[in-house]
Amino acid sequence: MNFLDTKPKVYFKTFGCRTNVFDTQVMMSNLKDFEITQNEKDANVVVINSCTVTNSADSTARGYINSLNKLPKKPRVIFTGCGVWTKGENLFKEEKVDSLFGHSEKENINELLKNDERFFTAGDLEHIDETIVEEFVGKSRAFIKIQEGCDFRC
Ligand code: SF4
Repeated sequence: MNFLDTKPKVYFKTFGCRTNVFDTQVMMSNLKDFEITQNEKDANVVVINSCTVTNSADSTARGYINSLNKLPKKPRVIFTGCGVWTKGENLFKEEKVDSLFGHSEKENINELLKNDERFFTAGDLEHIDETIVEEFVGKSRAFIKIQEGCDFRC
């Protein structure tokens, strides 16, 4: 990726609950060498923050991935969120997505996206974020996250 001219544009697609909405804000806060776009058709990179609470959530994410792969200017597709641990391996092996990273790696998103190679960094499930989100991009209300992931009871 060429960082000399303009910054590559990143679009975030967030599925699931407010935990994921917050996690997307954490990722946005840590993106220093990229520009955030609100239009996926302009994006060089699309980061999918997935939900895996139901089969329907999984199939919605798969449908979205397929739609990205049909865009005239196909973006690099990066998959993260709750689906990494359940569906990540298959998505990576089938080359449906370019790369994946788990919840614990989201504060490293800037460095991860600068890596042009394919990567699958699942991370661990015990991680607690240190980022303080100071600005909620595209949101009128801020909120505080009190746990990682969910108990799959919804
Ligand atoms: S925490 Fe649960 S409901 Fe929220 S995005 Fe993850 S799997 Fe879905």
